[in-house]
Amino acid sequence: MIPVTKLESSTVATEKRQLFIGGESVSALDGRTTDDLNPYTGEVYAVVAAAGVADVTRAVDAAQEAFASWSATSPSQRRGILLKAADALEARTPEVISLMAGEVGGVGGWAGFNVMLAANMLREAAAAVTQPVGEVLTTETPGQLSLAVREPLGVIAAFAPWNAPVILSTRAVAAPLAAGNTVVLKPSEDAPIAAGLLIADVLHEAGLPAGVLNVVTNAPEDAAEIARALITDTRVQAVNFTGSTEVGRIVGTLAAQHLKPAVLELGGKNSLLVLDDADLDHAVSAATFSAFFNAGQICMSADRILVHQSVAEEFTAKFAAKVGSLPHGDPADPGTAIGPVISQRAADRVAALVAEAVSEGAQVRAGGDGKATVLDGVTPRMRIFQEEIFGPAVVIVTVADDDEAVAIANDTDHGLTAGILTEDSRRGFALAQRIRTGIVHVGNQTVDDEPQAPFGGVKASGYGRFGGRWGLEAFSATRWVTVAGG
Ligand code: NAD
Repeated sequence: MIPVTKLESSTVATEKRQLFIGGESVSALDGRTTDDLNPYTGEVYAVVAAAGVADVTRAVDAAQEAFASWSATSPSQRRGILLKAADALEARTPEVISLMAGEVGGVGGWAGFNVMLAANMLREAAAAVTQPVGEVLTTETPGQLSLAVREPLGVIAAFAPWNAPVILSTRAVAAPLAAGNTVVLKPSEDAPIAAGLLIADVLHEAGLPAGVLNVVTNAPEDAAEIARALITDTRVQAVNFTGSTEVGRIVGTLAAQHLKPAVLELGGKNSLLVLDDADLDHAVSAATFSAFFNAGQICMSADRILVHQSVAEEFTAKFAAKVGSLPHGDPADPGTAIGPVISQRAADRVAALVAEAVSEGAQVRAGGDGKATVLDGVTPRMRIFQEEIFGPAVVIVTVADDDEAVAIANDTDHGLTAGILTEDSRRGFALAQRIRTGIVHVGNQTVDDEPQAPFGGVKASGYGRFGGRWGLEAFSATRWVTVAGG
């Protein structure tokens, strides 16, 4: 266990956490710290070390030093650690529920989903370890053995966001570690524990050797400098970043300038299509889950519900009634469906998008007062139609036919995911082929992830894939090896 010091404040016990470098919890070299806030109460949840550039160098030193031995560990040893970590994470479920409520305002169901999916990602990574690492090729040279061999790259820089902190920090490190790399992870300042220190804690409890995974937490004002130091360190061989398209452009540009491969998992502007033959009760549940799970703060959240005009009024009335009944409040309360958004700034941004749309003629069908909001009468020139909402609001757009639904679903710079609700899977599949996203679900909601499946976007939603063999390949180099015949 990484030691946690409890500091008593007047109202809550505040955790104090350090950087995790070379298998040890250490202070930042200059001793600086930063506050990690509870989004529901506004109080300080934890005081966390604020890394400087010299700490990034220290973390890369440790990762570089650990690479030779980690890349040479036996498959069974690596697999054993990853499997043990999956069990260790599940054993901490109550702790994670409390951590996610306090650090990111996540409700219990969302925290449980984080643990389940992250544990499965670790198991998928464990299974990948014993997969073949190459192929035997044909060769023009008689007697020669010609091989294509997958090999680890070295030190990987990984960036995890706050919104699905346990899932996305696990995703950022699982495939790189399984492939034999070592990692320096930089979690979001909004979730330094849940999106960083927790997974290091769990993996070390499971026996991960010192230096294989290092975590640098930072103050918000240092984010750009810390990220630059990490990406541009000559020993870092590849980058993975999950976060906004805006920061993804900066990270992708830096990586490209330094000729480092990058996996970029960025924002979405996802549509859920409700066709005229959809089962409307299922559509209401799927739309509620797609738009409001984790208060709409999921990259796969549906921002637009495109409903066929013949069922639009019936669907909208049922959906608005369901959304209007969702309990809001304290994320630590098991009855709460919608907790707070991550910050006052995020709440203000969503409120402004809604207010602007209403002033331009959109109608509020549910919420509209900071609560889960359903708008209709939205037009494509409204900002809420174009920008990623990333909060508890969704717009309904009525469409005349399937062609119009496809055109609107594709009318965005983003291309992460889509859902198509219909009882006719042949029709759904035909539409799926016309929607430009990295992921599409026929008959299902937009929010879904399975560790064995390729996950990633097209267009401004990023490039590269996590999941299954795609994730392993992203953090490997394939080498051609020949051995002359005797
Ligand atoms: P963000 O991009 O605002 O922040 C991500 C990280 O970038 C932060 O930890 C911050 O430290 C760092 N950062 C800030 N400025 C930087 C700079 N100039 N250079 C380098 N790094 C810098 O994203 P967020 O608010 O943490 O997450 C929300 C976004 O992430 C949404 O857009 C969401 O759709 C997206 N997301 C995508 C996926 C996916 O798999 N595609 C998953 C989850 C979230």
